[in-house]
Amino acid sequence: MTSFTDRGDGPLDTDVTTILPDDKDWAWVLHRACPECGFEAGDVPGPRVPVWLREKAACWPAVCERAAVRARPAPGVWSPLEYACHVRDVCRVFEARVYLMLSEVDPAFENWDQDAAALADAYGEQEPVAVGVEVWAAAEAAAEAFESVGPDDWQRTGRRSDGSRFTIETLGRYFLHDLIHHLHDVRG
Ligand SMILES: [Zn+2]
Repeated sequence: MTSFTDRGDGPLDTDVTTILPDDKDWAWVLHRACPECGFEAGDVPGPRVPVWLREKAACWPAVCERAAVRARPAPGVWSPLEYACHVRDVCRVFEARVYLMLSEVDPAFENWDQDAAALADAYGEQEPVAVGVEVWAAAEAAAEAFESVGPDDWQRTGRRSDGSRFTIETLGRYFLHDLIHHLHDVRG
């Protein structure tokens, strides 16, 4: 187990719900348990990804029905509604990446700027109950994408614009952690 000291996990850096760019890349969770949400993504076999996805996605509609769903808990921290919009869009992006990796050899992923998406789509102004349903539907579609992966295809690869390479299996683990970690963020 690698130490977390390289992330600067001192008392000033314990709130990973703060919107900081360097907390946006979860690639390290493929190798170690997340110290915040506790999830050990690195051990999840690919075929378990859709099972967990459906289970965790089912929690989001209730999050979106909270009275204070639009309230940011602190300046610079997304509201539950904004997190829900983010998770919905993550599901859509990762669903597309799975199909891309299945249809092409080692494709490059289109860059997705999640902060730009949050602004462009005005996450904080969306209708919460509708977003809750959309998260569920987007997660279901992503689960179906992972379910369509054959036993010989989990090690197919794809590349992100920053040069990191994923297999469909590690992409699934990364994605699953994102969903679970954001539930932790909103105490869902
Ligand atoms: Zn986590």
